[in-house]
Amino acid sequence: MSGEGSGRQAIRKLEPGKLVLASHNKGKIVEFRELLAPYGVEVIAAADLDLPEPEETGTTFVANAELKALAAADLSGLPALSDDSGLCVDALGGDPGLFSARWAGPTKDFAMAMRSVEDRLNEEPDMSRAAHFVCALAVGWPDGHVEWFEGRVDGTIVWPPRGDKGHGYDPIFQPLGKTETFAEMDQDEKNRISHRADAFGQLVKAVF
Ligand code: IMP
Repeated sequence: MSGEGSGRQAIRKLEPGKLVLASHNKGKIVEFRELLAPYGVEVIAAADLDLPEPEETGTTFVANAELKALAAADLSGLPALSDDSGLCVDALGGDPGLFSARWAGPTKDFAMAMRSVEDRLNEEPDMSRAAHFVCALAVGWPDGHVEWFEGRVDGTIVWPPRGDKGHGYDPIFQPLGKTETFAEMDQDEKNRISHRADAFGQLVKAVF
């Protein structure tokens, strides 16, 4: 990893101005635009600049976030922000992990992906249901400098799935100390405790 990383010294600051969001996900663009507006940052979507989506060849969330941010910064000549996230289940060796989106297949069938998690947990008796979501955020600059921040939230895999808010694996993830799954919680509550909130909080503290 080439990043300076959170919690280390001499983190490069992000000046007010344009920032490319290296994502083609419309929901994320809206979310980050709102989150970054108070800091004088104008978010430009990668798709508006016709930037291609690089292949996610990294072996960690941070590596994938870094490569996406640096590719977008290099091509646009502007600082760029990217994220990479997923669900890691301890007893499954961290699966689905980097492949969280791919477990849902091309039709984004998360009912199937959640069922696959549960089936794998039932392959042996008494498997631990401990899990965590990870979110890596990276800010890359056109000169190749990159900073990264990694957030996480710990919890338990529940079955059957509960709740219809949220997305992805939210219905089977119950954060530690809570009685509701992410899909049963109000968006505001999830946004206060999520892996993404953790990573974004670190980023804001470091780069502004
Ligand atoms: P990506 O970061 O857009 O590549 O997404 C990775 C995948 O991880 C998503 O498609 C979801 O399956 C899963 N994921 C990441 N964050 C969350 C979350 O907050 N709730 C549920 N699923 C999530």
